[in-house]
Amino acid sequence: MVTRATVSKERAGAGSAAEPTDQLALRRANLSRTLRHIRQNGPRSRAAIAAATGLHKATVSSLVDELLDRRLVRELGPEHSGSAGRPGRGIALSPDVGAIGIEINVDYLAVHGSDLTGRTVIEKRVSFDAQGRDVERCLDDLTEAARRSLAELTRRGVTPVGLTVAVPGLVDVSRGVVVLAPNLGWRDVPVATRLAHGLSPELWIGVDNDANLAALAEYTWGVAAGTDDLVYLTGEVGVGGGVIVNGRLLRGADGFSGEVGHLPVEPGGDRCGCGRVGCWETKVGLAELVRRATPDAAYGIGDGPIPDPQERVAEIARRLAAGDPGVAAAVAEVGSWLGHGGAILVNLFNPRVIVLGGYFAELADHLIPSAQANLARMALASTAARCHFVASHLGFTAAARGGAGVVVERMIDDPAAVMLAGAR
Ligand SMILES: [Zn+2]
Repeated sequence: MVTRATVSKERAGAGSAAEPTDQLALRRANLSRTLRHIRQNGPRSRAAIAAATGLHKATVSSLVDELLDRRLVRELGPEHSGSAGRPGRGIALSPDVGAIGIEINVDYLAVHGSDLTGRTVIEKRVSFDAQGRDVERCLDDLTEAARRSLAELTRRGVTPVGLTVAVPGLVDVSRGVVVLAPNLGWRDVPVATRLAHGLSPELWIGVDNDANLAALAEYTWGVAAGTDDLVYLTGEVGVGGGVIVNGRLLRGADGFSGEVGHLPVEPGGDRCGCGRVGCWETKVGLAELVRRATPDAAYGIGDGPIPDPQERVAEIARRLAAGDPGVAAAVAEVGSWLGHGGAILVNLFNPRVIVLGGYFAELADHLIPSAQANLARMALASTAARCHFVASHLGFTAAARGGAGVVVERMIDDPAAVMLAGAR
């Protein structure tokens, strides 16, 4: 299954697996159940796992042995058993196995590598000019970045089992194909297949929408973790939304939901990267903020290496701190438009929080007051009053972190599918 895209079970414990029909399927389901129990409850002795899951002690011992063989768990000393009474040796998730998430965006690549325990092993962002390269060149560079990141993870003692690429656009997750990414200029790009040619055949390779992956990361590790109804907004050159409803990622009939950046908000407005006019991202995207706040540094002017998005935002923050009234007005105006679109999302999905990612998070203190005020003005009052904009703490790597998380989730769903070189 080299090129099969990673399909996520989006939340720990969510979904209803089909009833196992034979012994092998039952065993695989029980392996997953055991691993999931350890993840949710921390290190546990075999006896404690048996008591909590209702599985026979001998069965649990055999399941744990197989998970040890597959290097997905490790055995701790008796003092870590986590259970009362006679101490058994604690079984914990293994830090030796992990995954990579890579986000490709208009002006950067972000990489997150973590192990099965959720520990961050690699986290970095490098500037990258996707608009200045053709698709083939982008894919070459992406493959090279993936290869280097996988090697780095291995060097740090974590064997990677897969990676997920996060892309700002419409993604056919089942085939690993980017159907359309307007800001990258991509259409029908078979990213998973292309990457598979340059990487290890055992590796799982998935592709997903950046906002969806970031929303999953927020829901799992973020500032509003566990909030069952939330919307995550990417604050990049493009603006995408990941919508969690009742604890599940909303994907829509074709998996293309969440393209909130292209909500029409201004008839006759500016031309958007998608070819239409007056889309929300023409009012709140990073390119628009930069154009308004620091026109001398606007996108598309000047030669040489393009600035990292964080450098652009840092410059705006510096001018805000210096009391530049023009910059303050520009940021407040963008904040107001943020509230305008937020009101549409509140009326549609009734989220408890709207999590601001990317640059929105960096300038949250300046954006949120005008955004919240306009949200209150435009949404139905009772709903808007209970929904708040909050800044993500996950920074520019939220989507990459979600991408690594999706691989780990898949590993926990089916531990028997994990093939590791060097397993006992
Ligand atoms: Zn658009």
